[in-house]
Amino acid sequence: MRVGVPKEIKNHEYRVGLTPPSVSDIVAAGHAVFVETGAGLGIDFEDADYVKAGATILPDAASVFAGSDMIVKVKEPQPAEVAMLEPRHLLFTYLHLAADKPQAEGLMKSGATCIAYETVTANDRSLPLLKPMSEVAGRMSIQVGAHYLEKEQGGRGVLLGGVPGVAPARVAILGGGVSGVNAAQMAVGMRADVTIYDISNARLAELDMFFGSQIKTAYASKAAIAAAVKNAHLVIGAVLVPGAAAPKLVTREMLKTMKRGSVMVDIAIDQGGCFETSHATTHQDPVFEVDGVIHYCVANMPGAVARTSAFALNNATLPFVIKLATLGAEAAMKADPHLAHGLNVSGGKIRHQAVAEALDLPF
Ligand code: NAD
Repeated sequence: MRVGVPKEIKNHEYRVGLTPPSVSDIVAAGHAVFVETGAGLGIDFEDADYVKAGATILPDAASVFAGSDMIVKVKEPQPAEVAMLEPRHLLFTYLHLAADKPQAEGLMKSGATCIAYETVTANDRSLPLLKPMSEVAGRMSIQVGAHYLEKEQGGRGVLLGGVPGVAPARVAILGGGVSGVNAAQMAVGMRADVTIYDISNARLAELDMFFGSQIKTAYASKAAIAAAVKNAHLVIGAVLVPGAAAPKLVTREMLKTMKRGSVMVDIAIDQGGCFETSHATTHQDPVFEVDGVIHYCVANMPGAVARTSAFALNNATLPFVIKLATLGAEAAMKADPHLAHGLNVSGGKIRHQAVAEALDLPF
């Protein structure tokens, strides 16, 4: 198959659909790869790196779309890209269609087959192509939290790990899933005093086994969360109720009890946020303050570490890209029901039930 990689055109998106090492593997599997000039420059992949990996560089997106059967991207296609899609195309990327009817209608009109990263599943019912971004956001949350706790950033002036003779900062992590565990790993590494709160007793037991005495676990009752935020220097919001808006675990009332200069990082902001006072922010203007508490609520945290994120995403997507290129979309999805769950649009119709329901379109 001919696999095409256009340069991402969404504002401030520096990741790229395929890294040069991925291109090497796809070419070794017998496929041709076409990369738009400069597609990887934002994260220091030169055209020459892609050529060395076996790709052909094309001058613009139009020639990549025209010359390829399958398009591999990161972000949902922007209107100019949707306009270049044809029924013969297979599109493999994040789509997040449920909240984007104009895009869904554009993709339906294109006639292309569109497989969304975010709805591909795994045996344990997890979402393997979302997982790497939760890992990145979880690990990053402690790094940004530590930064905003510094006095110059408006924070309380507290060092996460403390020093000999001075107690470490208290970190409360709400939600012990993928991002919560990754946050905890970083916080433990920095010697903070870490507690993870979750409503799944099975999950709490796993965390207890995994971390041993390095952290504390607690059932996420309202009272426990109220006590936690009152005492914490850094609160990480990492809950997820699949398919639903994030529950507002930290209320405005609870916020009033928090220490001035403490920091909240709401990773769950892409699902509406789990603090009542959260609203989405950007990397250009990432924080705001309510009642003296700093809120960091960037909806696309992995974009800040685009190079790491591009490699992490490719590690997860590459096996699927090779499967799709080798077997073709239909046979690949027949062979792998988890990949088939990724199908969102084809033949002008929505093919994913939850997406169709969210958009109020026929399935
Ligand atoms: P996950 O499913 O792995 O973990 C969620 C955890 O929350 C589970 O352990 C669950 O039991 C727990 N939970 C659910 N309801 C709870 C409640 N009321 N109280 C306490 N715990 C509760 O999810 P994840 O992959 O860690 O993702 C978490 C959120 O981060 C999602 O909304 C995801 O989309 C988001 N995310 C954001 C960014 C970003 O850039 N901001 C990046 C990646 C992921």
